Amino acid sequence: MNNSHRKYLIVGNWKMNTVATDAEDLAQEIVETVGKDTEVGVVVCPPYPCLSAVANTISDSNIHLGAQNMNAAPSGAYTGEVSAEMLRHHFCNFVILGHSERRTLLGETDQQIHEKVVSALRNNLRPILCVGESLSDRESGKTFSVVKEQLLKGLETVDLKLAEKVVVAYEPVWAIGTGKTATPEMAQEVHQSIRTLLHDHFSSEIAQKIRILYGGSMKPSNAEELLKEKDIDGGLIGGASLQAKSFCQIVGAALKQVL
Ligand code: PEP
Repeated sequence: MNNSHRKYLIVGNWKMNTVATDAEDLAQEIVETVGKDTEVGVVVCPPYPCLSAVANTISDSNIHLGAQNMNAAPSGAYTGEVSAEMLRHHFCNFVILGHSERRTLLGETDQQIHEKVVSALRNNLRPILCVGESLSDRESGKTFSVVKEQLLKGLETVDLKLAEKVVVAYEPVWAIGTGKTATPEMAQEVHQSIRTLLHDHFSSEIAQKIRILYGGSMKPSNAEELLKEKDIDGGLIGGASLQAKSFCQIVGAALKQVL
């Protein structure tokens, strides 16, 4: 069980999957299964065109809405981009930032991600800042230095007053969508180091409040053992979030830690 001051958070990252009707059906099933639970926070992050449909479907439940990205600028000539304020108007409370797919496929830099984190917080959106090492980083012993750099650059000028709203997701790149999961011990080791960095960067109080999620092939069969670790406060789920059954089973694994 994690530190009981921190409420578990289970986040579904639907990536570029679902059209609005599929998204509604998936959200509806999630609402029916776990929509009344209050002990665990649940967030779904559909693609932009499905946000409205999902917002309607979850409106009377305890499920929260998140987006998968945003632009740091408030408005302007940024064709194809979406601002934090636009997401707030679509009832989003969370936004995933710095996902490794965006870092590697679209070349997002730590500086750009930092600007997005600041803009999200300024607009009352909770950023889910993703950090994690590649396979070659791990094999060459660079896991901790890579995670440190991504974390501290991403949070560089974040105001102490807003820092507790940040969520961090540790996602080893080699575990995303590959079926390979970090062992609970491997994940806990990095989560603990992230908490220490948060302590040194902000304060011990903030470090104890910030939730650190694990992401990378989390599924019903491994969720419980990961969530038992002291510094693992939830999960960022890709593949297994596209089926209501497996996603809700992961929520169930978190509930089991607190009930
Ligand atoms: C992700 O993309 O954030 C993720 C964790 O994906 P998966 O669960 O499919 O590994």
